[in-house]
Amino acid sequence: MAASQAIAETTAGFDAIVIGAGVSGLYQLHKLRELGLKVRVFETGTGVGGTWYWNRYPGARFDSESWTYGYSFSQELLEEWDWDEHFAGQPETERYLNYVADKFDLRRDIQFKSRVIAAHYREETRSWEVLLEDGRRYTTRFLITAVGVLSAATMPTIPGVERFHGQSCHTHYWPKEPVRFEGKRVAVIGTGATGVQTITEVAKTAGHLTVFQRTPQWCAPLHNGKIGNDEMSRIRANFPEIFARCQETYGCFIHATDPRAALEVSPEEREAFWEKLYSEPGFGIWMGNFRDILVDRKANALISDFIARKIRQRVKDPAVAEKLIPKNHGFGTRRVPLESGYFEVYNQPNVKLVDITETPIECITPTGIKTSDREYEFDIIIYATGFDAITGAFDRIDIHGVGGASLKDKWKDGPQTFLGILVDGFPNLLMVMGPHAGLGNFPRAVEYTADWVTDLIRFSCERDLTRIEATAAGAIAWTDHVIEASEGLLFTEIDSWMTGINRNVEGKQVRRIMRYSGGHPAFRKRCDAVAAEGYRELSLA
Ligand code: NAP
Repeated sequence: MAASQAIAETTAGFDAIVIGAGVSGLYQLHKLRELGLKVRVFETGTGVGGTWYWNRYPGARFDSESWTYGYSFSQELLEEWDWDEHFAGQPETERYLNYVADKFDLRRDIQFKSRVIAAHYREETRSWEVLLEDGRRYTTRFLITAVGVLSAATMPTIPGVERFHGQSCHTHYWPKEPVRFEGKRVAVIGTGATGVQTITEVAKTAGHLTVFQRTPQWCAPLHNGKIGNDEMSRIRANFPEIFARCQETYGCFIHATDPRAALEVSPEEREAFWEKLYSEPGFGIWMGNFRDILVDRKANALISDFIARKIRQRVKDPAVAEKLIPKNHGFGTRRVPLESGYFEVYNQPNVKLVDITETPIECITPTGIKTSDREYEFDIIIYATGFDAITGAFDRIDIHGVGGASLKDKWKDGPQTFLGILVDGFPNLLMVMGPHAGLGNFPRAVEYTADWVTDLIRFSCERDLTRIEATAAGAIAWTDHVIEASEGLLFTEIDSWMTGINRNVEGKQVRRIMRYSGGHPAFRKRCDAVAAEGYRELSLA
């Protein structure tokens, strides 16, 4: 019996609904179609791309090598697409994802301007009822979330945000129309990876730019460059090796951890290696560094000192340089922003850094920003204030499972999942890159997870199984394993979106283990074993 027939007999509506038409949702749709299922993707935006549809802020680009970031599943696609830059900007990546959507004719199953606000599991029919913001309702056997990790943007809880008379915007919701900064007094609040990119770009043209910094970041150089035709041909010829290497590394990047420990080598060897990494493109300085820098305090202090020296060399005013050097966390314990001239921005006469730990922002006024020591006037305020990460996008959908239990309540002290894909008490809900997934080079992990989800659905359809659920014991064991895998990693002691902290969101002030830190190869091994044993660890009926 065809997979779609098996489902159509027992439920009206769709066989599968996918939430989100970003990198994960597009590929998941493509895979589910291969099963012959009736699938619908609901997407809030008016176009495909997810992260790369929304984040149009000045300077937006990724920190993964483009040629490791694209999908690997289609040889034809790999043959056809030429990347312009080693680290593509948002416009190029959005173009790429549109190209993919067209090539695989994905749009006909994507419903745009359709925000999912609720999803309720109905035991009687073993299906989900999905409610859109505009009131439309749909039913589906399988509900697949492809909502991304960083998609629930958060504004700061600063009084007066709505009173500002000038132009203001969160970077995530940047308008499609170009915004000009020439002659304008611009403020940026936030200095995470987004703020760093925005500040570097806006400083090029703004009349005056004021940066409001709460926590400085350990940024390192991106070293981006164009890809010429010859180089693209060489990359294309190497795709099999490139993707194979990404599968072997901890974070699915091209950069693999160096087997040496920083504390085992001589100071000269250490320094020379760090100089090399600092001069090379991409995440080598974070992902390809000595194996102990993210677990050993002494090793971490040494690399932090190395990067601090670089900041002091690059920023002319020593007082400003000191403000730009993080003091409350070590290098790599938060996500390292890669930059293209970020520190030099503070040598420009049109740029001022305000340390809001010294002079806190009191409120936004109709004309600008008031700190504890003065008022600033602005034409434009940019909020680069981040996201309610990982679980935020789930919290914004009212999801109820068996017996009406709420997912938000279940996860209030931290997510509980089986493999980061299933949740006990929420049958037929499957998550692609949900909580407890490993972070890293996103599309590499997406392809694996969406394939795994597709195989599980195929398995169920072929056996006329209509109810797939994680067991409570399985979810407890996996959640314990996720917590165990993070033990000893220095990042767990630091407040950041990676540990579930967002000071602008109620209930997100306590650190939790949000992601799997055992590395992608270990994650895949565990998922493969579950599939190889016929999913016996799940409850299937
Ligand atoms: P983020 O790292 O969470 O940074 C948010 C910034 O806003 C922080 O500096 C934060 O300060 C500040 N902030 C938040 N609320 C504030 C308030 N009320 N008052 C003052 N400052 C406030 O968010 P993000 O920069 O958007 O980056 C999130 C993640 O997205 C990155 O880590 C990365 O994984 C991804 N990203 C990737 C790329 C890329 O691939 N190149 C680019 C951009 C983003 P505190 O640190 O003190 O909280």
